[in-house]
Amino acid sequence: MRRFFKWLGGFLLVLLVLNVWMFWPVRLAVPLLDASIDLPAAHPPPDMAIYALPTGAMHSQAVFAYRGGTPGEHRDFTMTAYLVRHPRGDLLIDSGFGTQVDAQFARLPMLMQVTSTYSKGTPAARQLAAAGIEPGSLAGVLLTHAHWDHVSGMTDLPGVPAWLPEAEAAFVHGDLPMAAIAHSMPNLALRPYAFADTPYLGYARSFDVWGDGSIVVVPAPGHTSGSVVIFVTLPGARYAFVGDIVWQSEGIERPAERPWISRHLVDLDGDQVRAQIEHLAALHQRFPQIVMVPAHDARPTAAMPRLTP
Ligand SMILES: [Zn+2]
Ligand SMILES: [Zn+2]
Repeated sequence: MRRFFKWLGGFLLVLLVLNVWMFWPVRLAVPLLDASIDLPAAHPPPDMAIYALPTGAMHSQAVFAYRGGTPGEHRDFTMTAYLVRHPRGDLLIDSGFGTQVDAQFARLPMLMQVTSTYSKGTPAARQLAAAGIEPGSLAGVLLTHAHWDHVSGMTDLPGVPAWLPEAEAAFVHGDLPMAAIAHSMPNLALRPYAFADTPYLGYARSFDVWGDGSIVVVPAPGHTSGSVVIFVTLPGARYAFVGDIVWQSEGIERPAERPWISRHLVDLDGDQVRAQIEHLAALHQRFPQIVMVPAHDARPTAAMPRLTP
């Protein structure tokens, strides 16, 4: 009996140490941003507009979203596509949950299936159609990265190309489990783009989608090999769509990375992700007018117009 309690005591101590190590609210350091970095010029057309298309959510807890999150505090991980209307072409940023989400979820790793639940909204393609926008007329879907919850809605957008960097196209074509759903989508048309050697907000390279500075994409690898940050500048508003570099705004505001268990499940390279968070935190401090939008946090875009009521 005494031996049992000794063993139990040791076991509980190991559990406690593991928990403290994993969830201790460590904040990352915010690096000094180079003084020469300035807010880039942009010339968005006056009729450019952006809309939020909420398509569902996964349900989790703050403790799993960022170090320092409260255990038991419910968090919705929203799945939102954003429509950016521009005279040169309408683009979605990510595609949200599509009509095939049940079948896609059933293919996820078992650990993810048993630790999360989800709820469905109206898929992006249906919201577009209801607003009188033919989904096939989109110029493309600009992906922050090709994880299943960002490409899910592509199944409802046949013929609409997924715009992504070469590195992310290679990720989709590869055999990593986290790319399996994108990899096996029968009609997923990839449109890879290249970055120019044009610095943008401290990133060495960038891709200016329409040539007017209104939508500028920069490589931000780590979460996946070809993850990007998409900067959108409209008349009077600036956004940075940061994908899954952080899941919730606190990741940039504190700043803090995901706890080990979450990093282990979803990040390809945790060190790279940490560096991306630190840079975003530095940008957030210097340029608070840029609204940082984590892919699964609806709070920063709560006031953005919806496409349908
Ligand atoms: Zn992801
Ligand atoms: Zn995601």
